[in-house]
Amino acid sequence: MDDESLIGFILRLASHTGSTPIAIARRMGLTPRYMGRMSILTKHLISLPPGQLADAAHAARLSETEMQGLLLAPLGERYGPLAEDYLRRPHSRNSYLRPWTYTRHSQFCRSCLLEDKTDLGMILGGSWKRRWHLPVVFACVRHRQLLKDSCPHCHTPIHAARLGRFLENANTPDLHPLQCRAFPRWNPEERGMPFCGAYVTGRSASSISSNLQTRDAVLNLQSTFDNLLSVNGPDFTESCGTTVSTAQYFNDVRMMATLVLASWPHARRYTATPALAMALTGALGLLQHDDQRTRVQTTRYRRANQALYLAPPQAPRVRAALLGTAVKILAVSERTQLSNEVWHMQRRARDLHPELPQKIGRQPGISPALMSIFYVT
Ligand SMILES: [Zn+2]
Ligand SMILES: [Zn+2]
Repeated sequence: MDDESLIGFILRLASHTGSTPIAIARRMGLTPRYMGRMSILTKHLISLPPGQLADAAHAARLSETEMQGLLLAPLGERYGPLAEDYLRRPHSRNSYLRPWTYTRHSQFCRSCLLEDKTDLGMILGGSWKRRWHLPVVFACVRHRQLLKDSCPHCHTPIHAARLGRFLENANTPDLHPLQCRAFPRWNPEERGMPFCGAYVTGRSASSISSNLQTRDAVLNLQSTFDNLLSVNGPDFTESCGTTVSTAQYFNDVRMMATLVLASWPHARRYTATPALAMALTGALGLLQHDDQRTRVQTTRYRRANQALYLAPPQAPRVRAALLGTAVKILAVSERTQLSNEVWHMQRRARDLHPELPQKIGRQPGISPALMSIFYVT
């Protein structure tokens, strides 16, 4: 088990034993009736209460430590947003930045899934990694490619289901862990099919960019994040010119990314390459030029599409562009310059929602250095 996620473990165990994911999850005590149906709930991917954890481990013949190692919550020790939302403040349902805690679907690296040469990996495909659920993971440095975020055939986000559940068609037997289980409800040609069934690794890998500078920028950023997220990684790093804990740093990154997004394209000059800036602009449906006329249009557009600005972009390339920009701003160590940038971004973010700058500034867990800049301005 190399950083395997609970859903990946259930899928591989079901396939290995000729069972279904829902039957495995039921044996592990993870299938309460939800909205009238037996379901695997997304909250179980994050953490389990001690008694339930012990029962699930026993049923899966794992130690409790191994069982804990399948859940996302332990990643919160280094990825601050997970800890803030799930470990310390379990009832904060209305958090503005909640979507930044983990992705509701599984991203994946095609090569990691196909090139696992262990006995199990050859038959069942490689493990679905826990870290593929973190918004700050968008590329595979080892295979030098972007992660994929949806089925190449039906374009449904992988493993996502509706209403707090995980995995569609979890009671369908005889599907390989690499096959898509989504209902292809958006494809008229395939209406009536019970599920998509395509192999998610069926199409070619996602190249980062034909531009060398863009490729390097994306891989360097991912490599920096991977190092910070690794269990043996540094416990401290730099943010806004001061030393902060790694968990705090990721809270700063999340907060800055939200501000960059809400005020885009103000911070465009901090984006590593024009190709990445264009990816972000395109994803937001904004015009590149920012004269007075387009500004009026985009303000109306922004308000109508607030949700687009508050969640991490789903496309890995766009997320890389956004996070790279946020990281560059946090690396500004000159306080006046940093305050000035934040002031301008806050002003633009008010176009989206008058209270937004205050709300994102009050999120707990951000470093004192960033918070002081936020309140000073
Ligand atoms: Zn890979
Ligand atoms: Zn599909």
